[in-house]
Amino acid sequence: MELVTRVLATTSEISLKGGNRMWFERTLTGNVRAAVADLPLQRVERPSWRVLLSFSEPVPFPEVERRLATVFGLGAIMPVALAGGSLEEVEAGLAGALEGCTARSFAVRCLRSDKSFPLTSPEVESRLGRIVEAHTGWPVDLRHPELTFHLLIDEKGFFAWTRRLAGPGGLPTGVGGRAVCLISGGIDSPVAAWMMMKRGMRLDFVHFHSLPRTDRASLDKVEALVETLVRYQGPTRLTTVPLLAIQEEIAARCPAELRVLLYRRCMLRLAERVARRARADAMVTGESLGQVASQTIENLRAVGAVAGLPVLRPLVGLDKTEIIEIARRIGTYETSILPHTDCCSFLMPEQPATRSTAWELGKAEQAIDVRAAVRAALAGAEKRRIDRPTPWPELAVPTEAAS
Ligand code: ATP
Ligand code: MG
Repeated sequence: MELVTRVLATTSEISLKGGNRMWFERTLTGNVRAAVADLPLQRVERPSWRVLLSFSEPVPFPEVERRLATVFGLGAIMPVALAGGSLEEVEAGLAGALEGCTARSFAVRCLRSDKSFPLTSPEVESRLGRIVEAHTGWPVDLRHPELTFHLLIDEKGFFAWTRRLAGPGGLPTGVGGRAVCLISGGIDSPVAAWMMMKRGMRLDFVHFHSLPRTDRASLDKVEALVETLVRYQGPTRLTTVPLLAIQEEIAARCPAELRVLLYRRCMLRLAERVARRARADAMVTGESLGQVASQTIENLRAVGAVAGLPVLRPLVGLDKTEIIEIARRIGTYETSILPHTDCCSFLMPEQPATRSTAWELGKAEQAIDVRAAVRAALAGAEKRRIDRPTPWPELAVPTEAAS
């Protein structure tokens, strides 16, 4: 197993952020520290807008990689070695580093963040390239090299690496504001949550259950999903709200084909109350255009009309296969496909309406006392903090990136 004492990571979009850059950088560094808190981290530095982690003892690289794969804002992850304090030292060590290496072609890439260094990057590249050529006979191929030697020249030293793995990208969690995600036990909503976390949002969660008509196992499943998602953003809160009374009232008094849409409107009203208490600016759902009858554009509009906060639907343009692919990668899929009783799967109409209007739904709701029903449901809500994340081995690791 590859052991490392230093890992370098690039930042993804942070360089674009002008005045907020220092805040973004600080948030990112804090998130990196939190992600590797259980490893013997010595320090985190930021040479030339990158993040350099130093460990007090060698640690398996896959362990570091797995953790950093959850830190949004990181662009690429490289196991690096301190190759020396001067170019001469790097040159002297290069022959040894080539022992046992084979390649059909190579290139040297130099990044010079220490602008006081007297040689330019191309000059360093050709000096080192000549040494590699002399030792190995490999041809230089600047376009598609099989092996690339990277060197970062920084005030802190000369760092070398040959491998680069794709980081998670996105923006550091915490810089994108706060939202409340409506999480069901299915495949879509955890992916939607992950996508908004990737844009820097910190999420709270709300889940609607129909106990005692649905089982406790469904609640455990949602909790397990949130525990996996906690890996990507840190501790969160999960509010569970009883929906059964509202559903039974709607089922008894409103047109059958509108039931699901009316449940959804109540969910949004309740989620908005949770969101406002949490000082969140938006709600997040796992809806995808046209996936099911309740998700036609007419129905999304008619249901969304009751929301006083923006409803973010990051999956709106994704196919189910694309959503599943992400779910597998982020580690929620296996939990999502466990059997569960969804709060909407009973009291379901045979033929749900595919084209409703806000007016039609509002009229149907006149048969029930929405305010009182919402108040009663909120009174039965339970909130818990979830800060115990899923163990590491259950998470996916990033894939090898093009160097
Ligand atoms: P999912 O994987 O999210 O269940 P789905 O295709 O089954 O996806 P629907 O059941 O139509 O979607 O629900 C659409 C969205 O409404 C969900 O993505 C979720 O955001 C929200 N939602 C549905 N049921 C619940 C619930 N019981 N608790 C909280 N949110 C829910
Ligand atoms: Mg669902």
